[in-house]
Amino acid sequence: MLYLSTRGDPARKHFCEILLEGLAPDGGLYLPERYPQVDAATLARWRQVFNQGAAGGYAALAFEVLSLYIDDIPAADLRALCDKTYTEAVYGTPQIVPLKKLEDGFYLEALSNGPTLAFKDMAMQLLGNLFEYELARRGEALNILGATSGDTGSAAEYAMRGKKGVRVFMLSPHGRMSPFQQAQMFSLMDENIHNIAIEGVFDDCQDIVKNVSNDLAFKRSHKIGTVNSINWARLLAQVVYYFAGYFQATTKEGERVSFAVPSGNFGNVCAGHVARQMGLPVDRLVVATNENDVLDEFFRTGVYRVRASADTHETSSPSMDISKASNFERFVFDLLGRDGARVKSLFGEALARDGRFDLSADPAFADAASRYGFRSGKSTHADRLATIRDVFQRHGVMIDTHTADGVKVARGHRDAAVPMIVLETALPIKFAETIVEALGRQPDRPAQFKGIEALPKRVQVMPASTAAVQAFIAEHCARA
Ligand SMILES: *Cc1c(COP(=O)(O)O)cnc(C)c1O
Repeated sequence: MLYLSTRGDPARKHFCEILLEGLAPDGGLYLPERYPQVDAATLARWRQVFNQGAAGGYAALAFEVLSLYIDDIPAADLRALCDKTYTEAVYGTPQIVPLKKLEDGFYLEALSNGPTLAFKDMAMQLLGNLFEYELARRGEALNILGATSGDTGSAAEYAMRGKKGVRVFMLSPHGRMSPFQQAQMFSLMDENIHNIAIEGVFDDCQDIVKNVSNDLAFKRSHKIGTVNSINWARLLAQVVYYFAGYFQATTKEGERVSFAVPSGNFGNVCAGHVARQMGLPVDRLVVATNENDVLDEFFRTGVYRVRASADTHETSSPSMDISKASNFERFVFDLLGRDGARVKSLFGEALARDGRFDLSADPAFADAASRYGFRSGKSTHADRLATIRDVFQRHGVMIDTHTADGVKVARGHRDAAVPMIVLETALPIKFAETIVEALGRQPDRPAQFKGIEALPKRVQVMPASTAAVQAFIAEHCARA
């Protein structure tokens, strides 16, 4: 299996070559040359693999899916990496991603039982093990630099903690994350994890990461890398739980399901698109946004319009507060018949020039719904409160704010004949303030998080200065 760029560069690469990279050199995103096809017989076999023995089914399924895309890691090693990643010990449940039935034909798929209680663990935990494996094989080291306002940073740190050859430098806006999120990250005492609290806002943190990445000499000499959501390995890891959801909601091949996905950067639902292109019988892929409705606007109108950061709303589902959707280019590439030159002119030129492009008059736009199954909708703070209340009162299940956006939008796109699976992307404890607003009570707290706010913290507070961050990295970075 070889990988290409969405912007038409003729180069082709293997999985491990793109594993540690971000963007392709032409600015595009990596995708496989073709989607491996899974026929009904293979699906039936995978269903057995997944259902066999309570524990280990998910890891075995992950190995089946990943094997189709990775030909430069020996099978036994890949199997061991999957087994090590998806364990009951880490996820607290043998099914890893259990389905919860809310009512007939309407389910939640629990993706947030990992160490940081958000779905990003599903991919990041695998990435940690893949990075350690590949770096050891090459005899190299990597210093991961990132900016976070919450979920991504903690998922990356919990995935990379204690990993050989890897160090993490994570910037966050000083004093602006929730006390729970700060405690999650800053209580890590691992020697290879560095929390840097920047005196500024999230955009300042992101600007510093960009400045450091644009300093090519520094980047090369200090082996700077990233783990952001455009990484293909993260997306691939997410494909697995679409299959796992399907096997739990159906009893035999030929049945169809729909998925509703709380969306921001389009990484999660793009994995659903990949699963559907492989032949998973998915009817609809419902994209749920919050007030930051860049994606809903596209699927309704054909216009993709990125927002200025001043026009990005700060919402109570903050992990979906985006001004543009970093992974969206992958879907547009497929939608336009994999025309790399066209994608380059849209994303590399029109977007940079006009901040928007318009596909409404293009015959391909209609395919987004008719051929690729996409639907969309938007949810607001008031919708979140009402949905959290309703799901708790009628079903006795407490859901977080992002999942509430998914449930709200899913309800507008149900077809009585097809089960709908809403992806649960975080647990309510991470967003306690809004739960209290909706329900008048604190969310349940998993036992391992009791009292974490009181733990000692390890964090370096720093001015919003690229030079200061570079000096800190130079002093603490890993060298091969
Ligand atoms: C990151 C995140 C999302 C958005 O996922 P994308 O892949 O960016 O679309 C939704 N919910 C939660 C809780 C998240 O952490």
